[in-house]
Amino acid sequence: MKLTFLTALLLASATSAAAQPQSAAVRVDPQVVALRDAALNDDYAWDITEGLTTEVGQRLAGTEAEARARAWAVVKLRSLGFSNVRIETFDMPIWTRGPESAEIVGPFPQKLAIAALGNSASTGPQGITGEVVGFDTLADLEGAPDSAVRGKIVFVSHAMPRTMDGSGYGFFGGPRRQGPTIASRKGAIAIVIRSIGTDYHRNPHTGVMTFAEGVRPIPAGALPLPDAEQLQRILKRGKPVTMRLTLLSETGRGQSGNVIAEVPGRDSSLPPILVGGHLDSWDQATGAIDDASGVALAAAAAKRIMDAGRPLRTIRVVWFGAEEPGLFGGLDYQKRHGSELHYAMAESDFGAARIWRVNSKLGKDREAEAKALQAALAPLGIVPGALDKAEGSDIGPMLEAGAPGVGLSQDGTYYFDLHHTPDDTLDKIDREALRQNVAAWTTMIAVLSGGIEPQPKRRRRR
Ligand SMILES: [Zn+2]
Repeated sequence: MKLTFLTALLLASATSAAAQPQSAAVRVDPQVVALRDAALNDDYAWDITEGLTTEVGQRLAGTEAEARARAWAVVKLRSLGFSNVRIETFDMPIWTRGPESAEIVGPFPQKLAIAALGNSASTGPQGITGEVVGFDTLADLEGAPDSAVRGKIVFVSHAMPRTMDGSGYGFFGGPRRQGPTIASRKGAIAIVIRSIGTDYHRNPHTGVMTFAEGVRPIPAGALPLPDAEQLQRILKRGKPVTMRLTLLSETGRGQSGNVIAEVPGRDSSLPPILVGGHLDSWDQATGAIDDASGVALAAAAAKRIMDAGRPLRTIRVVWFGAEEPGLFGGLDYQKRHGSELHYAMAESDFGAARIWRVNSKLGKDREAEAKALQAALAPLGIVPGALDKAEGSDIGPMLEAGAPGVGLSQDGTYYFDLHHTPDDTLDKIDREALRQNVAAWTTMIAVLSGGIEPQPKRRRRR
């Protein structure tokens, strides 16, 4: 069903870019048009995504696997011809998953699928057993008297709706982000939540949560949607429900880093254009859509500009480390480079489905440039969005601090079927959609680049 829908989407948008009318008011630079249309045949992004997910695999932040990903990235970016390829390392706390299981002990004994949330406390190998108290929403948990929760395993079933722009993730992600802290404050011995996801497969969705300062860490896990609804039905029978939970994990310190590479501009005194994604992934899968495809398409677009010649402004590719456990890479970049001017920032961290909207926040005095960007992207089936906002995970704090940015929004309708699950693998990426992404990113960089001049011709040796 999903493949059929994707195919339909692709067919609907397969009309040649050239055949569609461009915005009447803004003429698009022919150089941009040529780069955009050529990028619709791009294979760099696929090659990077396939290489990273195959040759490195899972890349949990701060681990030896993420270090291998950085080493792989340096070799790859150099081989593609990028300049100034380097790693900026930083220390961070790490959390690693151990064996995990959940079962209903009574009244209807049965096993459930579960995944610990990042930063969950460990139950120890003997596990914990307790009575389950269920809440339909985070607000219900918050409003409950401590006596209803103390000594029990809290279950929050708050269901996230499917949306194209992923807007449910903020509000409905509350049980994962704040639930464990609230439950612990009320004396719960553990918390399980309905996964922050939209698929009815038995894949639990992990993700990070952080206990507030001074709050005692408790074990915290996510049930897949079918198991969460099963638990709801069992609770509705009105008998006391007992659950045994084993969530093992270890914590320590580790090192992560940002991998940086550049296409040097003709004028090195001008602020660079930053494009990127994050190199780390969760540990259950190879992180193909989160976020191998993101680092791949940002680098592929920069590579396409490099192949065309020299841009006026430097293009800086940043593959951030340790995004998943809490934007450690973005914050380290901000600490080192946040005071330097950037011409624009953009990050791809929402999968690899087709881009349907462009938001930007370039400032009032650059409105003509923002409109030129909208016009250049329109033939790819991308609608103009806001002129006063941009988004991105690692770059979020810098955008908030006032840095200019662009947000190219992927269609997120199916993103949360895969997000943070064992199902986030290469086969889920649609190559045609990935090419449309690269075309959009190439267009964006070309519009902002200040113009690309051919490389001075090298004399051929005979
Ligand atoms: Zn991500």
